[in-house]
Parts: sequence; structure tokens; C-alpha cells
Amino acid sequence: MNFRDVRSHGEGALTNPYLPSIPNGRKSPMTASIATKPAALRCALGLAVVFAPMVVAAMERPVARHPTPSPIVKLLAGIAPAKAAPPPVMELVWKGADIDGDGASDFANPTGSAPRGHDDFGDGFFGARRDGGSRAHEGVDYVARAGQTVHAPMSGYVTKIGYAYAGDTDLKFVEITNPALGYAARSFYVTPDVEVGATVRLGDRIGKVESLQSHYPGITDHVHLEILAPGGDRVNAAGLIVPRMMAVNTDTAAD
Ligand SMILES: [Zn+2]
Repeated sequence: MNFRDVRSHGEGALTNPYLPSIPNGRKSPMTASIATKPAALRCALGLAVVFAPMVVAAMERPVARHPTPSPIVKLLAGIAPAKAAPPPVMELVWKGADIDGDGASDFANPTGSAPRGHDDFGDGFFGARRDGGSRAHEGVDYVARAGQTVHAPMSGYVTKIGYAYAGDTDLKFVEITNPALGYAARSFYVTPDVEVGATVRLGDRIGKVESLQSHYPGITDHVHLEILAPGGDRVNAAGLIVPRMMAVNTDTAAD
């Protein structure tokens, strides 16, 4: 074996049999590509080292403002019973009938309270016995406090202010007539603060409640309301002004 053979053998041992043979003094395109890869990798790594903290910081800031619940928190929130809503506050309201079909009530409770129940002087409902049964109660008595506001039971004109009992100027009634409906309403035991000819809207103040105690000691103070239908027949106001339980819209901001 001469020197040339050894060198030749050595070169042959280092030669990758899968690479094409390389002519002397030239690099194959593949060799050039391999040579440039480490430089490109270093460049990409450099960029990543420079920009990654900025990207992470940009991503972390909004996360810090709006922390996302961890999966376990989400899971527990799903298992825990929903926060119990407070029961709605119910309130009794008096709903007036809409007899002309315009979508609005045509009658209102003059005191806001329920009809008078039974007391020593009788009952407050329409048709209750009066004078030992010789006549029937022609109105509905709405419980009241002496001095409280009386509301117009109907829109219309004040057509009469009269006395409840002949010869007694203490106890008055206010008559309101509504020509469009053909109805009239008389509210008794009222000290009026409207005059004949005045226009009143449903629910407006028409006066204050007068005490009945000097006339009927122990009676439940009330407004006696008579509703006169077209033609003049008195009808049961309780059929035109009915109680409803309504949920009150309470402020839950302090929840
Ligand atoms: Zn009455």
C-alpha cells in the first residue's frame, strides 16, 4: 500500500455514499443549503428572544384586567345553586274596568282601600241590608281614613255637589258625569275641593274624606261610591273596580 492509496482510502471512508459525487472545487446546491441553515436558525432564535417577552407581555396585560376563572372555578360555579332571586314584592292594586275598549281603565278606587266589611252598622258591599232589610245598599263603601285624599272614581265633569242627608250640611257628595261613557259616579262623605263644572281626570284629587264618627259612632270610616249606568240604574262598583296582586318593581341595585 503506498501513500496515495491510504489517502484515497481515507477520503473514501469519509464519503457519504448517499450524497452525489462532488466534482473538485465545486459545492453541490444541497451542501450550500445545509451550510446556511444554522445561520437562519440563529436569526430566528434571536428574533424570538427579542420579541417573545413583548408578545407575552401584550397577552398578559388583558388577561390581568379580565381574569378568566380557572376550570375548577367554572365547574364549581356550575354546581353551586344559582343565587336565589328575592321573591317579588306583591302589592294589591285596584284595576278599573275598560268599558269603552280604548285600553285604559274607566274607573278607579276612590280611597285605594278595600270595601268595608261588617261593623255595627252593617256591611259595605253593594246590595247589603239597610234599615232592617227595608232597602238595599245602593253603593260600595271603600274604607278610608278621615282626612285622606279622595280620588276621582271616573273622568268627567263635576255635575253636582250635594248633601248626603237632607238637613245635614256636614256630609256631602261629589257627582262626576262622563258623557262619552254615559256613566255618572257619586262619592259620598267627601269635603270637596272641586267645584261644579270642573273637569276631572280619573284618579285626580277631588277632596278629602270626612269622618262619620259623629253620625255613626264606631262605624268604619269610608267613601260610599255609587255608579250610575246609562239610564240611571245603580250598578255594583265592585264589579268595575277589582283587586289584583301585582309584582312591584323594586330597586335591587343594593343587592
Ligand atoms: Zn254606603
